[in-house]
Amino acid sequence: MLECRSCGATCESGADEPWRCPECGHALDFAERPLPDGEKPDVDPLAGLWAFDAFLPVGREVTLGEGWTPVAESAAWDAQFKLDYVFPSGSYKDRGAALTLSRAAELGVERVVEDSSGNAGAAIAQYAARAGVDADIYVPADAKQSKLDAIEAAGATPVRVEGSRQDVTDACVREAVGGEAWYASHAWNPAFYAGTETFAYELAAQRDWDVPNAVVLPLGHGTLFLGAYRGFEKLRDAGWTDEVPRLLGVQAEGVAPVVEELHGPAAAARNDVADGIQIREPARFDQLLGAIENSGGDAIACGEAATERALAALHERGFYVEPTSAVAVAGLETYRENGTLDGSEDVVVALTGSGLKAD
Ligand SMILES: [Zn+2]
Repeated sequence: MLECRSCGATCESGADEPWRCPECGHALDFAERPLPDGEKPDVDPLAGLWAFDAFLPVGREVTLGEGWTPVAESAAWDAQFKLDYVFPSGSYKDRGAALTLSRAAELGVERVVEDSSGNAGAAIAQYAARAGVDADIYVPADAKQSKLDAIEAAGATPVRVEGSRQDVTDACVREAVGGEAWYASHAWNPAFYAGTETFAYELAAQRDWDVPNAVVLPLGHGTLFLGAYRGFEKLRDAGWTDEVPRLLGVQAEGVAPVVEELHGPAAAARNDVADGIQIREPARFDQLLGAIENSGGDAIACGEAATERALAALHERGFYVEPTSAVAVAGLETYRENGTLDGSEDVVVALTGSGLKAD
């Protein structure tokens, strides 16, 4: 069963389920919210992110052994980094793709569509290949060749669409609404966010169930941001941890709708280095704002120069991430400079995408 948390409408799950609320257009979520009862188990790292299946509304049908990404101390930034670029397709999007394609398999879906300019398309294509499901990935006409290579190599079909990023989404949705395919959207599909919840479960387990004071994450559609928030909330509700960390988002200057909502509009040049988070209309805008408010978090925007500096500094220290990932580290520096974080706080930064397919 799916529900709309905006208007309360519900609809049955199935291969022909709507991709958004038929009443109000809001994104849908699972009506069920699994929580384990009882004490924390000994977690098996070899099970990857599926070690936390007691929290997940989707069973393991499709997997490439993903999850349990490393946590590395970084003396240079006095923080811990969770290396969420260490995944089969090279980004944290595999958390969502594993759950989304597992759900597609549960529902008997034979063809999926997704729209993405990068990592999500590669992740969905690779997990669709693993599932034996056909996938069409709608991409902007100027999408990076390295990401198209990954999509094509997995046997999926890239569909190039001229125009804006919204035009790409609209073309994809027309295909999904026609009943021809299931919309395996990283921005809209609730299974994707169930997958990104596992960031929180892993991090807590890796820290012996002691969550940090704050987590800094890149913020575009907010797929990791919102999933992490939900995961931390469920850990607390299960009694496995004491609190929810402050969630601190970092957007790209010039395309920063969450920052503008919180702090007002700001004139700034577009940060095209962080192209992976240039999302003007996040699919779950209200839920992102709620996660920030409920966790005592915030959002800021970073410019190109700061992003490039952080990227070079990361590379020099062995963290080979893609440019978009560097905004989180640039943002950490800004959060300390502006006093949002004081020097004593225990902070984890998510590094989200590999540099190996960045060009
Ligand atoms: Zn609704």
